[in-house]
Amino acid sequence: MRITVLAGGVGGARFVRGLRHLVAITDLDAEIVVVGNTGDDAWVSGVRVTPDLDSLLYALAGVNDEGRGWGREGDSERVSDELRAYGVGWPWFTLGDLDLGTCLARTALLRDGLPLSAVVERLAARWPLGVTLLPATDQEVETWVHVVEDGRDRELHFEEWWVRTRAALPATAFVQRGVERAVPAPGVVEAIAEADVVLLAPSNPVVSIGTILGIPGIRQALAATAAPVVGLSPIIRGTALRGMANACLTTIGVAVDAAAVARHYGARAHGGLLDGWLVDEADADGVPGLETGGIRARAVPLRMTDDAATAAMARAALELVR
Ligand code: GDP
Ligand code: CA
Repeated sequence: MRITVLAGGVGGARFVRGLRHLVAITDLDAEIVVVGNTGDDAWVSGVRVTPDLDSLLYALAGVNDEGRGWGREGDSERVSDELRAYGVGWPWFTLGDLDLGTCLARTALLRDGLPLSAVVERLAARWPLGVTLLPATDQEVETWVHVVEDGRDRELHFEEWWVRTRAALPATAFVQRGVERAVPAPGVVEAIAEADVVLLAPSNPVVSIGTILGIPGIRQALAATAAPVVGLSPIIRGTALRGMANACLTTIGVAVDAAAVARHYGARAHGGLLDGWLVDEADADGVPGLETGGIRARAVPLRMTDDAATAAMARAALELVR
């Protein structure tokens, strides 16, 4: 069977690792394709940084820093310290030395003329990931955030808003710069069209999944596929497990609530995206309303505490539409 997952960074990576674990322990004959968010990407200190794709890469390769949640395990920050001493780059944005090695390799390949999707393929070939990793698009489409800072309207790169201001600066809008010129990366539309099931990872609905859906053609591919589309709620008991993500939903006027996020994606039966939606057990009271609205729903434990717990979530998502 073919399983296609739309995923952000850390939440997406944990989910895909659990899905891969499920395939391994159940001997499921499954091919997993992951479409990763590229909206957080940026040029920093002369290198192309792709935080979500790298979170996926490192977590699936087993070389990620699990405790900190981003970057490589056991990394040092000598190069970032040196750049800071020169006043180059973003002082609030630290990249580890090994992480910078990945960024340099990526930038070298981009400079050689390879599209991002080919670069990701080259970098991923280093490790046996067990999944195919695709960027949502090869074009540079970056998320910028409209804010009011000191009474003035400003636009910040998403990373500046997220990392420097810790999403505390009230955002009024998210904009995908360059999106009108973007097309899905090679393989993305095919992975959605030819899938047996499409899963929306419990990733940020606005700046991870929402950004992927904003690439012209991807939403249409989801509407057209014969595969059922099932999402897992990133919101449990009215909050994102990493609280900063709440601000993203508030900005676009969606309640920080598992059922509200499903209604935001919409029922496929009524022109939206979802055939199915999993909420956490704590949010079971939202299930009947979703089912009335045309979204098959179920309440199961949704905390990705380890690969086994996450595999059980993935299994529940597959069973929901079987
Ligand atoms: P990012 O790009 O690194 O921010 O990662 P994602 O967009 O893929 O996912 C981040 C979101 O995952 C968080 O904002 C949470 O809402 C959600 N999340 C994190 N851990 C868990 C978990 O254990 N269970 C569920 N259901 N959601 C989680
Ligand atoms: Ca991200």
